[in-house]
Amino acid sequence: MGKINVLDRQVANLIAAGEVVDRPMSVAKELTENAIDAGATSITVEIRHGGASYLRVTDNGVGMERDDVPRAFLRHATSKVRTEEDLTRIGTLGFRGEALAAIAAVSKVAVMTRQSGQTEGTLYRIEGGEELELAPAGCPDGTTVTVRDLFFNTPARMKFLKKDATESATIAALMDKFALSHPEIAFCFIRDGRPALQTTGDGDLSAVVFEVYGRDSSKKMLEVRYEHEGIRVSGFVGAPLAARPNRNLQNFFLNGRMVKAKTFTYALEEAFQNRIMTERYPICALAVELDTALVDVNVHPTKLEVKFANERRVYEAVYFAVCAALDARGERDAFELPQ
Ligand code: ADP
Ligand code: MG
Repeated sequence: MGKINVLDRQVANLIAAGEVVDRPMSVAKELTENAIDAGATSITVEIRHGGASYLRVTDNGVGMERDDVPRAFLRHATSKVRTEEDLTRIGTLGFRGEALAAIAAVSKVAVMTRQSGQTEGTLYRIEGGEELELAPAGCPDGTTVTVRDLFFNTPARMKFLKKDATESATIAALMDKFALSHPEIAFCFIRDGRPALQTTGDGDLSAVVFEVYGRDSSKKMLEVRYEHEGIRVSGFVGAPLAARPNRNLQNFFLNGRMVKAKTFTYALEEAFQNRIMTERYPICALAVELDTALVDVNVHPTKLEVKFANERRVYEAVYFAVCAALDARGERDAFELPQ
């Protein structure tokens, strides 16, 4: 007899969960992405105690039919991708079909969901990957997912949780990014019973920038609107005076997805060269849009990294877009000292 086991589903899910869900922020991110993919125009994220004990996302999106709810919690179960071909043109935020399975493997989840036009909704409960309940329930249109006791069955993971204040600050920063990347959605973020961020969803990005960056910084923001070889760059970039000692307020979105891409950072900072002091970094909220076939978002389970078919073109689009915004304000050679 050989000594190799094929792991059962539960153990395999636990292992895989570690890649997708490493802290409460990742749960908030995955659930909010699902809400956006479901076409929601209003999304509320509520957390208590840093999100590990309680995290709830409510949306008014399309909802799920009853049979689909348990299926959504299987690994590699998704309504967003069918064929290999689909993977080359991903237009949704989710596509891996992993998030719900991963979250349910390491927490206690309850889902309430109803599709519009259905007379009744569905309640589903699953804890540590174990199905507990699937039943009819009265609920509004859309979906509410409640996640309790994250990592209750993985003590090693639990130990790595930071203080509640740190975890909730990370989720607050995440919600800022969602609001900035989707001004057409009304976001409400409630932290320990108090509203911490609220946007109207009227599509006005400058109002969201004001909400997120505050009055002082948003007064120093310059509008960016640029197109270069089929790549569109829009949003706001802070004037040199708004520069910060770190890159925390550099927000880049690619086709509506928050991403970390060195290409964007380099292009932005290159455009600012000689305009700000060393060790000061420009701030921005920039949306880059290009043909989904020219970018690969399937690089890592957290979906933050991307690969471009033509890196140079993307770099130039961002660089020229930012230069144009700065030039329009007559800042070309200005070198402003921080106050
Ligand atoms: P993915 O987002 O990669 O498809 P998930 O595990 O996050 O994988 O979700 C699995 C499926 O469950 C989704 O493809 C979608 O069909 C359904 N789903 C999840 N969340 C929602 C929601 N808030 N509203 C409607 N459907 C949802
Ligand atoms: Mg998803």
